[in-house]
Amino acid sequence: MSIQNAIAQVVDGKALSRKVQEDLSRRVEKLTQEGFVSPGLAVVLVGDNPASKVYVRSKTKNAEKCGMRVIDVHLPADISDDELQSQLLRLSEDPAVDGILLQLPLPKGLDEFKALLCIAPEKDVDGLHPVNQGLLMRGAAEGHLPCTPSGAMLLVDQALLQLGLPHDISGKHAVVVGRSILVGKPVALMLLARNCTVEMAHSRTRDLQTVCRRADILVAAVGKPRFLGPESIKPGAIVIDVGINHDTDGKLCGDVDYEPSLAVSGAITPVPGGVGPMTIAMLLANTVTAAERRSVKK
Ligand code: NAP
Repeated sequence: MSIQNAIAQVVDGKALSRKVQEDLSRRVEKLTQEGFVSPGLAVVLVGDNPASKVYVRSKTKNAEKCGMRVIDVHLPADISDDELQSQLLRLSEDPAVDGILLQLPLPKGLDEFKALLCIAPEKDVDGLHPVNQGLLMRGAAEGHLPCTPSGAMLLVDQALLQLGLPHDISGKHAVVVGRSILVGKPVALMLLARNCTVEMAHSRTRDLQTVCRRADILVAAVGKPRFLGPESIKPGAIVIDVGINHDTDGKLCGDVDYEPSLAVSGAITPVPGGVGPMTIAMLLANTVTAAERRSVKK
């Protein structure tokens, strides 16, 4: 972006997520006032991975705060592929369930992709079913968008707002570092849909620093603590840090070296408190949308 700041605007994902959730609470209230069943989110946890349990608790708490019903499905780590798939098929057919969240990663040995295929696309509120991925590729509005990338895009909009820049980012140069199916690829498609010129970087990219320094909008989704520093940031750029890592001291940090990058970025998301809370908000938003589309009366 053309504005050069000495100190970046901090884009507060926690505050934005609260705003999104307040709006969702109003939508849930409207649904129930009109006589529709409140949105039902099935939260499927397989095994006892401590990090997954924390995520599931947080998603459950936030969903209930917005007035949704949470259907808790806790399955043993030694469940078979067949049994897991039949549980997901059962939830897909259950009219009391609007959205299904299958907490990933699954315990070793279970087939993640085959499990995702058993979630009805209209209930796939994580946006990971190939039908929803295909709809994203087409730029069609009917699907569910994956949560972390769509949360990242709302943070881009919030950054533009804070910088006093127009919402239209046509022609801006965006660089996405990371090409996973969960984050990098979908966020690149979303930036492309907003008419950015998108460059994707990955582990085989040559001269990553030069590539990143071309970015008006830089999205880091690498999974390496403080991997990108100020030397990789174009002055005034919007920096969205998707990474959730622990450094050697066990401290939570992103893929961007936050403190020194404040001096060069135009706007930057912190870790924690940036993309993470937005991911949960977008999961809930997809669930409310699924319920509004379903529209079954009480
Ligand atoms: P992933 O599947 O491991 O993908 C990492 C990507 O980074 C790969 O495309 C890889 O390239 C690329 N990469 C690795 N080393 C690189 C290097 N030296 N230079 C350039 N690119 C490199 O990870 P992910 O699932 O996308 O997640 C990325 C990060 O986001 C993780 O920290 C994860 O915890 C976090 N995350 C956060 C949220 C949230 O809610 N905030 C949600 C999901 C993920 P190759 O393809 O060439 O191997």
